[in-house]
Formats: sequence, C-alpha cells, structure tokens
Amino acid sequence: MAMGFSRVPLLRRLPVSSPALPYSSSLQSNRKINISASLSTTEESTSSLIQDTPTRTRWKPMCLYFTQGKCTKMDDPLHIDTFNHNCSLELMRNAARLENLKQQEFEYFLVLDLEGKVEILEFPVLLFDAKTMDVVDLFHRFVRPTKMHEERINQYIEGKYGKLGVDRVWHDTAIPFAEVIEQFEVWLGERQLWRNELGGCLNKAAFVTCGNWDLKTKVPQQCTVAGMKLPPYFMEWINLKDVFLNFYKRRAPGMLSMMRELQIPLSGSHHLGIDDSNNIARVIHHMLTDGAVLQLTAKRNPRSPEKVEFLFKNRIV
Ligand SMILES: [Zn+2]
Repeated sequence: MAMGFSRVPLLRRLPVSSPALPYSSSLQSNRKINISASLSTTEESTSSLIQDTPTRTRWKPMCLYFTQGKCTKMDDPLHIDTFNHNCSLELMRNAARLENLKQQEFEYFLVLDLEGKVEILEFPVLLFDAKTMDVVDLFHRFVRPTKMHEERINQYIEGKYGKLGVDRVWHDTAIPFAEVIEQFEVWLGERQLWRNELGGCLNKAAFVTCGNWDLKTKVPQQCTVAGMKLPPYFMEWINLKDVFLNFYKRRAPGMLSMMRELQIPLSGSHHLGIDDSNNIARVIHHMLTDGAVLQLTAKRNPRSPEKVEFLFKNRIV
C-alpha cells in the first residue's frame, strides 16, 4: 500500500483525504523518507482505557527526526502542520488538583524507557520538570546494535518497528550505543544535569523508569557488549512501579496497568520507546498532582556496581 511505512494507528487516525497524510514522494525532495509518525500527543485510547481528557489541539504525529535533533524541515509549513515538533505533554491545568503537590527531592526527572531485547534499539529520555509538571526537553536516539550482522539487524528491525511504521526512520537515523552515550552526556552537560566534579553523578535530576530492567539489567549489558564502562549516572534510579505501589497501596505491575488504574488514555504506540516514555510522563504528572513524592527506589553499591540495593520495603518483584 502507498503508506506502507506509516504506522497503523496513524492510518486509523487520519482521514484518507487529509493533505496531512504523510508524504508522497513528490514532497520528499532530497530526503529518503519523511514518515516519522509518533503519536505522542494523541488522546487516543484503547478500549480498555477510559478517556477522561478532552482533546485540546488537533492531533499530529510526532516528527521522529525532530525528536532526534535531525529535522531539516522546520521551515516547511506543510511539514510543521503535519508533524508535531513540541515535546510538551499539553495536559490541561486543573487548579484544584495543584493543592496536593508536594515538595520534590529532585528538580527534574529523566523519564527513560529503553527498547530492544537482544541489544538496545532505542534510547528515549524525556526531561520532566517537577515544578511545571511538564516535559520541557527530550533526548531521543535510535540505536544500531554493536554486535549483529546487517541481515539480522534488518530482520530484527522489521519485526520490532515494521508494524509501527517506523522501521525506515530507524534505518535512517540509528547510531551505535557508544555514540548515543557520548551525545547524551553532551546533552546532560548543556542542561547542567551532570557534573564531572560530582563524580559524574546526576545533578538535581533522577532517572525514572517503569521497572528495574532498563537500568539494572539492560544498560550494563549493553555497555559490556559495546566494550564500555558503566557511566556513573546510571548508579541510582526511581522505579515508578514501586512508588505507585507505596503511594496508592495498589499493585500495578506495568505501564498499561498504571495507566488503567489512573484512567489515563494510552497515547501513541505501545513499545515505541518515545511514546512509552511519554505515557510514563503522563503517569508521573498524575501521581504528582495526587501528592506523590518520587524518591529513589534503587541504588548500586559504589564498590561493586553489579550489586543493587532496593530502598523500598514494599516493591513489585
Ligand atoms: Zn520535522
């Protein structure tokens, strides 16, 4: 089909006649592809989720070149009209709920949701401001596996991202993990979130993940595969599932169940890292307005970093 590389939810969402339908080849000029549909701002819900937030702006798929700092069409009105180039959650302010807000230990949360089982394929980080309760910036890279043959990569990506319609943007932009980390450190440094003189730990910020897998297991594994030392800012994190359990006294073993419990509609494609991070940010927003305090839940032992100490007694195992 003509839109073979667009994402299924996109096709479901956009009217067939819409001029916003992603890019016929005549519009692509010198770019190989322009389909970069992410549904980050949509209010799309699944049948199992209750939609309680009205749509405020016309939904647009996220430009996945923009999220990676690689959009070259920012001066093209049609492109800007078609794709979202704003990382804000665009959630409505509810003044009554702001009364519950608690002082947070961290000024910023780095919402991280990795993708890739064999090797990391996507490294999305949203910068969530604890005061404004919104996403104020992002770092997003597709990651090219270090030790995998080209043919295997192609199969892997087709299976993983083909059905979401983002396999071509992946091929167009993915870079090796070591480069991703290099660029991530520059990004952190520019925002004063990371200081070498603090032993390379984060400054004013903490990672928030859904589960322990991302930082306990996958990042160290990928560092080994890439022949790198584990960067010092991956020594501690907040597992949102543990905070959820201790705050609401309800068990939610995954992102979808947290969203269901809080009646937050699913946005975008589940298992596209940038969309999942966006959904986790919506959960954080909801929890903060309910009065939750996001504290560290896990710390590595500085002497033997492979040992992780869990800081909450009640936790999701
Ligand atoms: Zn763009």
